[in-house]
Amino acid sequence: MTRPRFKRILLKLSGEVLMGDGHAIDPAVTARVAREIADVKAQGYEVCVVVGGGNIFRGLAAAAKGFERATADYMGMLATVMNALAVQNALEQIGVDTRVQSAIPMSSVCEPYIRRRAERHLEKGRIVIFAAGVGSPFFTTDSGAALRAAEMKCDALFKGTSVDGVYDADPKKVATARRFDTISYDRVLADNLKVMDASAVALCRDNNIPIVVFNIREQGNLARVLAGEGVATIVQ
Ligand code: UDP
Repeated sequence: MTRPRFKRILLKLSGEVLMGDGHAIDPAVTARVAREIADVKAQGYEVCVVVGGGNIFRGLAAAAKGFERATADYMGMLATVMNALAVQNALEQIGVDTRVQSAIPMSSVCEPYIRRRAERHLEKGRIVIFAAGVGSPFFTTDSGAALRAAEMKCDALFKGTSVDGVYDADPKKVATARRFDTISYDRVLADNLKVMDASAVALCRDNNIPIVVFNIREQGNLARVLAGEGVATIVQ
């Protein structure tokens, strides 16, 4: 499959990507993810990162157990800031210059989200990590990723997961499940395929941002997929 070439990408990392056995944030796992990012940065790609928080706290799940939803969502957003700092720390330890920008201002911890400033960081060769999603409850970091990808004029949104693309059924449960090389936004939405939230998919569709779903747990895969070689599904 030939894939379009991208220069500026937004990488969406779910919180669970940073998890290890028994640790919400595993330093070794986080370091490996950081190396993936550093590798593609070294190849000249501009990289924005949006981190989730599901390894620590999910608003919806907490609300189901009795938390008030909006409060629980704010707690979830705070969890994404912890993950963002962990990714920043791992990148800095291997010499990659980064900035964290949070949609919820917390000036003693990181920068507030300022689009023009983020743009400047990218121009200077820094990785920008966006935390706290869109900054409002009732959203997710998938929507935050789609929004930031649109604002930062990213060529594509790379969704790093633990499966190697989008399937017509759950490949962990259905042996005959088929992986798509490409699939349309509308089919993802109509068939309710689990790629990203519907609002995130719709935002990408409306702004013509391809979503590349790939397995980030496989070493070197981000670079391979960017080079058009690795296994992935493109939603476009
Ligand atoms: N969240 C929110 N608004 C946002 C982004 C996140 O309220 O714009 C909350 C929400 O409770 C969510 C939690 O933060 O469950 C963690 O984010 P998410 O579930 O998207 O993380 P991921 O599944 O990617 O790890």
